[in-house]
Amino acid sequence: MSIPKTMKAAVLFNFGDLRVTEVPVPSLGVGEALVKVHSVAICGSDPAIIAKGWKGYPKLGEFIPGHEFTGTVVAIAPDVTELKEGDRVAVEPHKGCGRCENCLRGLYTTCLNYGNYKKGHRHYGFSTNGGYADYAACHINTLHKIPDSISFEEGSMLTGAGTVLYGYDRIGWIHPGETVVVSGPGSIGLISAHIAKVLGAGRVILTGTRADRLAVGKKMGVDITLNINEVNVRDEIMELTNGIGADMVVECTGQPAPAAEALEIIRKNGRISYNGIYHEQVTLQLDKIVQWNLLITGPKAEGMLNLERAIPLMADGRINLKPLHTHTFKLDDINKAFDTFTGRVGGAIKVIVQP
Ligand SMILES: [Zn+2]
Ligand SMILES: [Zn+2]
Repeated sequence: MSIPKTMKAAVLFNFGDLRVTEVPVPSLGVGEALVKVHSVAICGSDPAIIAKGWKGYPKLGEFIPGHEFTGTVVAIAPDVTELKEGDRVAVEPHKGCGRCENCLRGLYTTCLNYGNYKKGHRHYGFSTNGGYADYAACHINTLHKIPDSISFEEGSMLTGAGTVLYGYDRIGWIHPGETVVVSGPGSIGLISAHIAKVLGAGRVILTGTRADRLAVGKKMGVDITLNINEVNVRDEIMELTNGIGADMVVECTGQPAPAAEALEIIRKNGRISYNGIYHEQVTLQLDKIVQWNLLITGPKAEGMLNLERAIPLMADGRINLKPLHTHTFKLDDINKAFDTFTGRVGGAIKVIVQP
């Protein structure tokens, strides 16, 4: 396949100033493949990256964001034997440096050389150029082959699925039949609720304020939805669990009140996974964590190859994230895509941008 010299890309020229322009097609380094981008899902972190950058972000005027994407391999570096032209792939945003203590232990999403390009660290769309472009150069460690049964659109949500699976991995997975409460029906919350059922939860209870989002949860396998504007969530969950509390709470709102309330609805010996992005200080009853023998964790992104775990589950339909995909825009209309996403226009959940 002939690769052009230049391509279209959405470049961040200044904070809040994202524009589609013509830039050089990236050249390949050792271990890299060139991906012809097909679909990029807008992530909740993208508007913040566009508004104020990210730790170690590339130079303004050159920075191409976008990190939840799929495409086709169209070229490989001379040393690459793991992939070939024509392979359909999902891109994992994180590549660790491969040489720090955390990377050596497999914990590459918490690489100690974060943002250090020379040491080999990459975080596509954050500290390294990403996917809002015709092409992206990605290291093979971050490329996961997807079968034809996974569409490029649904495949772009594998990053979210991988993050959710890593959260369950960190907290010791779900034991069959357990009651799992997920708070916050944003996309990570909805994926958490859906995957809880896939992993064998007996009952999944989804809490939130937006009726339309709770309804999407129902469509994705949630057993019980609780609208916090209508009921007292703590009382309802205690009633549903015979006064004991949930086996696991997956907190996805990122808000201080539900984050603290997780300790009110968990059982003794329960587990709480904090999956939200918390901008404010949260006060937790530490003594309860000790006295109730609680386990609390948080997943940093799609770590320990959990994106790869999601692929066979999505390939045969056990993980079905299609209900989350509400809108599609061409790359030229990327700012309209962002307005739709941030304004939740037309019930927008996952908005996909296609070069
Ligand atoms: Zn993301
Ligand atoms: Zn590292």
